[in-house]
Amino acid sequence: MAISRPRGVAAIVGEGTLRRNVLRAMLGAVAADVMMAGGMMWANADAVPKVYTRKEWGARPPRHPSRVLDRAPDHIIVHHTASPNAGDGSRAHAFALSRQIQRDHMETQGWDDIGEQLTISRGGHIMEGRAGSLQAIQDGRLVVGAQSLHHNEHTIGIENEGTYLKEDVPGKLWESLVEVCVWLCAAHQLDPSVAIIGHRDYNETDCPGDVLYRRLPRLRVEVARALDDAARHAGPPSDERRRVTSRHQRRHRG
Ligand SMILES: [Zn+2]
Repeated sequence: MAISRPRGVAAIVGEGTLRRNVLRAMLGAVAADVMMAGGMMWANADAVPKVYTRKEWGARPPRHPSRVLDRAPDHIIVHHTASPNAGDGSRAHAFALSRQIQRDHMETQGWDDIGEQLTISRGGHIMEGRAGSLQAIQDGRLVVGAQSLHHNEHTIGIENEGTYLKEDVPGKLWESLVEVCVWLCAAHQLDPSVAIIGHRDYNETDCPGDVLYRRLPRLRVEVARALDDAARHAGPPSDERRRVTSRHQRRHRG
């Protein structure tokens, strides 16, 4: 993700400013003021990364409908799948990965559905996980997953393909992870400096691997900067914002 100007995270995540900046970025300054007056509402397709739906990757139906809580998650949990570090960055591989994870979770673990809300392949493809996750994110709600024991009712989980105990994270996966976290922080009014955590922060596990875990401070900073950048570009709401949008779209055509 193109991050041009280094700037302190603290500058943008001070109390109360993040939510306002994010809203201004997403809706334009004037609209944000209106929305701030009328309560939280977040709906702007421009800021949403390309996420492949369950239908696209060929999910099977869940055993039971997802539980949806009428509140947003307060933390984003970063996982690794602990599967092989595949060299295949294709979309077909990514879809097969989601199907494989769903099969494991339903057949081996005996869960109702795939455990996580979002999956990112090593090629950077982003897939919806548990049924209803995309809609819930849009609505500021939480589909309860099975991804962090005792913490499923307040967290949203991202499974990143691979095993990062020693090997480094591929650039494409990283870019998508940053984008997904920007999107989730914007959608749920989260401060990335505290909201983004690793699975091992909550449970007894190696996940997300030492390498990815050590990268979390950098992830928080990159996400904060991207939010800050978007907020500043929202200043004059029309032209500047269009440029941000087209840069964003270009990244997804590659
Ligand atoms: Zn995990």
